[in-house]
Amino acid sequence: MFLTFNQCFSNVPFENWGSSVNNTPRYTFLPQTVLGVQNVVRFAKSKNFRVRCAGYRHSWSDSFSEDHQVLVSLVNLETVTTLPDPMSIIGGEYNAATAPELKTIELKGETSPGKRLCRIGVSVTNEEFRRWSVANKAWAIPVDVILVEVTIGGVNAPICHGAGISHKTISDHVRRIEYVDCNGELRVVDDPYLIKAAAGAFGLLGVVTHITIELDAMTYAIMQPVKVDVGLAIPPTSLDQIPKALRESWFNESNAQEKIVSAKKDFEKRAAEDYYSEWFWFSYQKKTWVNTFNTTSDPTGAIDYPSEANTFLQWIQGWLGGVITGVPFFNAIPGYWQAQLIASLGMAALPPTLGESKTPTFKTLLPNALHFRRGVQNMRVRDMEFQIPLPPRADDASKPDFSVVQKAWWDVINLVYAAADNKDDPSSPMRLTLELRIMGGSDVLMAPQRGNDLGTASIEILTLPDAVTDDEWMGFSQKVCDLWMSYGDELNVRPHWAKEWEGVRFKGVEARQYMREVAYKSQIAEFKDALTQIGKGQEWELGELKERFSNALWDEVIFDG
Ligand SMILES: Cc1cc2nc3c(=O)[nH]c(=O)nc-3n(C[C@H](O)[C@H](O)[C@H](O)COP(=O)(O)OP(=O)(O)OC[C@H]3O[C@@H](n4cnc5c(N)ncnc54)[C@H](O)[C@@H]3O)c2cc1C
Repeated sequence: MFLTFNQCFSNVPFENWGSSVNNTPRYTFLPQTVLGVQNVVRFAKSKNFRVRCAGYRHSWSDSFSEDHQVLVSLVNLETVTTLPDPMSIIGGEYNAATAPELKTIELKGETSPGKRLCRIGVSVTNEEFRRWSVANKAWAIPVDVILVEVTIGGVNAPICHGAGISHKTISDHVRRIEYVDCNGELRVVDDPYLIKAAAGAFGLLGVVTHITIELDAMTYAIMQPVKVDVGLAIPPTSLDQIPKALRESWFNESNAQEKIVSAKKDFEKRAAEDYYSEWFWFSYQKKTWVNTFNTTSDPTGAIDYPSEANTFLQWIQGWLGGVITGVPFFNAIPGYWQAQLIASLGMAALPPTLGESKTPTFKTLLPNALHFRRGVQNMRVRDMEFQIPLPPRADDASKPDFSVVQKAWWDVINLVYAAADNKDDPSSPMRLTLELRIMGGSDVLMAPQRGNDLGTASIEILTLPDAVTDDEWMGFSQKVCDLWMSYGDELNVRPHWAKEWEGVRFKGVEARQYMREVAYKSQIAEFKDALTQIGKGQEWELGELKERFSNALWDEVIFDG
């Protein structure tokens, strides 16, 4: 009776997409309805199992289930264990009539002109929501992660984000959470303060079933991506920081300093004013990919971007990347050449693709621009991302000082070259990219961007799995962490909860301890108070959340402090 509406498997090994978490839950349930979720939680309560969820399994941190416990998988097992994943290239629109209860998308009332609520089932993927949004051409989530192979529930729980200084996290747009509590009851949180704890609760409140998000009226992005000399995209604070290998002819010209000054102005303008702002540097490449854009409500001249053919091509590129980086021959070649090969392919695939001096313009529906790259998940990667608060400028405290971003960017580039140039032990730990997005702060209680009133530099390093096998990645990540933590004690620099942060030490302190005792000390207290308040009205206590919905990571970070 308990198992009605659920598929259930026992002792199926779990691995996340990034291969950083492995365990064997006692039971893996695949509910498609709210009642199905309720039955799982009631069953778990009766047998004293802990319940944790998984969406597309794209998080790297140890935030899933554990050996001998219960896993609720909100995506079917074949999809989450098979690469390449054809979802983004199989045609067809989202069909509300055939969607199961945890995959519904329903428009609700307008909250103000140009804003409208939308109730979304947690198993809805970003690709399904993109298709729904593009088909109706009326409403869109203003920010999103680039990846389409994720679930709405999975993106909300660890407080994911997009880009643009005026944008907070995705969880900041959540207005109502429906969840199954520790007693198996369906509950709602929509209080304007308590929602800041319930959205972005890491699965600790219970199993979320539906999320109501406030959408914006549809707009069109005017994309003009460009490839810029690495020294002039995000310029260094002084010319000598540009490694010799990246110095272009202008470096030795008499007006090099003027070029840097003008590049800094362009960088700051994009960072401070554009709707969306993002920079990619592929290891050892002489150009940086700059993708910042603004939006308009005028649809004239809009195209599908990427087009169907281009989506297919991107998907194939991701798939080939996955195949190449998975074969023993590729992994036997030196890391430096792995990086050169993958990085130059990656850069070549990004627009403009027909000559770097060209500056093509693509006007497209905002959801297409937010998900400009498809098929990336066909190639597994490792990823560490930090949120660095933008400090106030010395001459005008109401404006952000972007020099911290320049430092964080060039410190990594120089570290990459220091590793490659090390005569005794040359290495190539960062075999993919350095990425930067400028974004706003957050009101979500446990967000790493909380309190960043002038904005956040969301910066990350990515590599191929072989760099982990070669024992190069963790040492490099630690060095990057040390640098990004060194820009002043007044900056509360914190990692993205879903990415790799548990293996490094923060200012010499073990990661979980640092989160609990330093980085989130007051926020954790506030979060627990808010959860306690929610529980008062809903007949459960904080201790029951720990008992039913936590795991070793969250015990240590949230409950045992
Ligand atoms: C290639 C790539 C690109 C990425 N780009 C970005 C980016 O641009 N911005 C960004 O912020 N992040 C980004 N990420 C991180 C990604 O958005 C997160 O890992 C996200 O959680 C993935 O969603 P998922 O469906 O795979 O969730 P999972 O990783 O499966 O789950 C994430 C967490 O949510 C919990 N959870 C899931 N569903 C529920 C539910 N219904 N109820 C309660 N708890 C639940 C799980 O227990 C887990 O703790 C990227 C990841 C990859 C691999």
